[in-house]
Amino acid sequence: MIHFVGAGPGAPDLITLRGAEHLRTAGMVIYAGSLVNPELLKMTPEGCEIYNSANMTLEEVIEKMRSANERNLSAVRLHTGDPSIYGAIREQMDRLKELGIEYDITPGVSSFCAAAAAAEAEYTLPGVSQTVIITRMEGRTPVPVKENLRSLASHGASIVLFLSSGLISESCTALIEGGYSSKTKTAMVYKASWPEQKIIRGTLETLPSQAKEAGIKNTALILVGDFLGDEYELSKLYDKTFTHAFRKGTE
Ligand code: SAH
Repeated sequence: MIHFVGAGPGAPDLITLRGAEHLRTAGMVIYAGSLVNPELLKMTPEGCEIYNSANMTLEEVIEKMRSANERNLSAVRLHTGDPSIYGAIREQMDRLKELGIEYDITPGVSSFCAAAAAAEAEYTLPGVSQTVIITRMEGRTPVPVKENLRSLASHGASIVLFLSSGLISESCTALIEGGYSSKTKTAMVYKASWPEQKIIRGTLETLPSQAKEAGIKNTALILVGDFLGDEYELSKLYDKTFTHAFRKGTE
C-alpha cells in the first residue's frame, strides 16, 4: 500500500494525526526534500528506508514504490502542504493504477492556510470577497491562456500566488494591469509556520522592492486583496437579528 500524505506547511506538529500514524508505521518514505521539514522523518521507525524525491525522476519514484509494494512495505509519499495543490500526484496515481498497486491519500494543511494564519487574515471577508483564487504566475510551467493573471485580476477576489516569488514584479504588474488598484494591500509570507517565518506587508506597488530588500526568492506565498485591509461587514452567521437553521434571530 502506498500512502500519499500531506506533510503540512512546515511545522512538524501541523501534520494530521492520520498522516503521523502512516509515518510511524512506514517501511519506506519518499519525501519532497525541497520543502518538507526533515524533522517529520524522526517519526519513522528504525530501519525505515528514506528517499528524497528532490533529485529523482517520476520513473525513479514509481520504481521505489513498486519495490516497496513487492516487499510488502507500507510506503509513504510525503508531499508538502496538501498534495492536491501543485503536488504532481495525479501522474503518480495513474502509474500506480497501471501497475495495480493500491494507494490512498491523506490531506494536509496547505501553505495557503498557514500563510493566512501567519497574517491573521480571513480570505472570505463578508462585504469584501467571497472567493479565493489560488494560482501562479506563468513561468517555465505554462498556465492556460484563460487563466492568466491579468484576466483573473478582473474579479477583484482574494488571490494567493504560489510558486511566483521569483516573478514578483511581473505578478504585481499583471494584477495592476488587470484591474487591482496599485494601492491594493498585499502580504508576502515566507516559510509560513517554520521558525524562520517572515511576513512582509505592503501594496501591489511596494511589494516587489520590499521582497527584494528582504532577499526573499522562494518558499513564499504572495497574498493580494482587500481582505488584508480593515474594511468589512459583520457576518450574517453570528448576527443577532439573523435566523438560520441552528439559531433564531432576536429581532
Ligand atoms: N502542496 C503545497 C504547495 C506545493 S508548490 C501546499 O499545499 O502548500 C510549492 C510552493 O508552495 C512554494 O513555491 C511556495 O510558493 C509555496 N509554499 C510551500 N510551503 C510554504 C510555506 N511554508 N510558506 C510559504 N509558501 C510555501
